[in-house]
Amino acid sequence: MPAEVVNTQDIGHQDLALYGGKPVRARYLPYGHQTIDEEDIEAVVDVLRSEWITTGPKVAAFEGAVAAYVGAHDAVAFSSGTAALHAAVFAADVGPGDEAITTPLTFCATANCVLYQGATPVFADVSPDTLTVSPTDVSRRMTRHTKVILPVDYAGHPAALDAIMELAERGGAVVIEDACHALGAEYRGRRVGRLAHMTVFSFHPVKHITTGEGGLVATDNPVFAGRLRVFRNHGIEQQPHATELHGPWYYEMVALGYNYRLTDIGCALGLSQLRKLHANLARRRAIASRYTASFQSTPGIITPVTRPEANPAWHLYPIRLDLKKLRVGRHEVFLALRAENIGVTVHHIPVHLHPYYRRRFGYRGGECPVAEEAYTRLISLPMFHGMSDQDVDDVIEAVRKVQRSYAA
Ligand SMILES: *Cc1c(COP(=O)(O)O)cnc(C)c1O
Repeated sequence: MPAEVVNTQDIGHQDLALYGGKPVRARYLPYGHQTIDEEDIEAVVDVLRSEWITTGPKVAAFEGAVAAYVGAHDAVAFSSGTAALHAAVFAADVGPGDEAITTPLTFCATANCVLYQGATPVFADVSPDTLTVSPTDVSRRMTRHTKVILPVDYAGHPAALDAIMELAERGGAVVIEDACHALGAEYRGRRVGRLAHMTVFSFHPVKHITTGEGGLVATDNPVFAGRLRVFRNHGIEQQPHATELHGPWYYEMVALGYNYRLTDIGCALGLSQLRKLHANLARRRAIASRYTASFQSTPGIITPVTRPEANPAWHLYPIRLDLKKLRVGRHEVFLALRAENIGVTVHHIPVHLHPYYRRRFGYRGGECPVAEEAYTRLISLPMFHGMSDQDVDDVIEAVRKVQRSYAA
């Protein structure tokens, strides 16, 4: 702490970088960032020098490694998490007239993939503690058209999967878990990836491990796995008996699929990154513990809740502001932290409030009050495994500085 800051009570607006004070950091710290080391680079270069650069041996190796890691029977890699979500919705045989119940507190891709298949996303509200979808509200919104329940492991905290699986079983629905935030998270001692019927991961650079762009669906169900593979490759099925009958050139397109393939280049990077996931998760958990210890008795700051049955993967560290204890709103706190060079952001704008969803479905706000209210108070602090101890200290110092300046 600088020597001149003796009495912290004296800190006023003028000390904030937002009002011309010295920022806590000289250099901007992003909220998330990939870590690429020499081993990763060599793995990619090796592929570039090899026979295969798109769909070759690295795709199957990566799928096998992720399946083994999460404890699923099978895994199918895709060109993005969004493509993987789309494929999972297809594999669940979702089409026009069907409904998929999901959470509004997610990236819009979670709900968009339902629209891609001509079905209707239905938003259930979230639980006030974890901000994952509330099983009670899911149950309330289930109809005979409910084909899928699509929970999101918000910030890396697993959704209430026991209750959701039970509801799905009763209603004959398929559970697609959007675990794009949650690679390596555990629920009742079991890794996310073997709990739902299908589990979707993303390998975008801000996520735990990266393939550049990429995604994957993990499943124990061979029928789903088969449909996922067909969907990834234009809907083309290779049937040995048909090839024998017609000739070696022969293949059949049996469904409307897409080119959603992930490359060997990406999968080599993913394989190399996966080897470091253990250390990555340990680092994220250590950062989360430091944040929580630092802020849990800070007035105006509410730290994320972890349920006893969950071991989150900490893709994000979203704090909530207690606005009764602050003189300003989220907007000012956000801008003040950004001015301190802390790359805070907000996850997520409730999906149903986006202009497209409002226009198409007539949402006006008020449909999911818990999620909507949480949204007005959420701020995601920087969280990635490449953060140094100094980076973490800077975030803590900046949050405290801004909180003191704005304390009610
Ligand atoms: C990142 C993300 C996606 C989309 O993944 P992409 O790989 O960027 O397509 C979907 N859902 C959630 C919750 C995400 O965080």
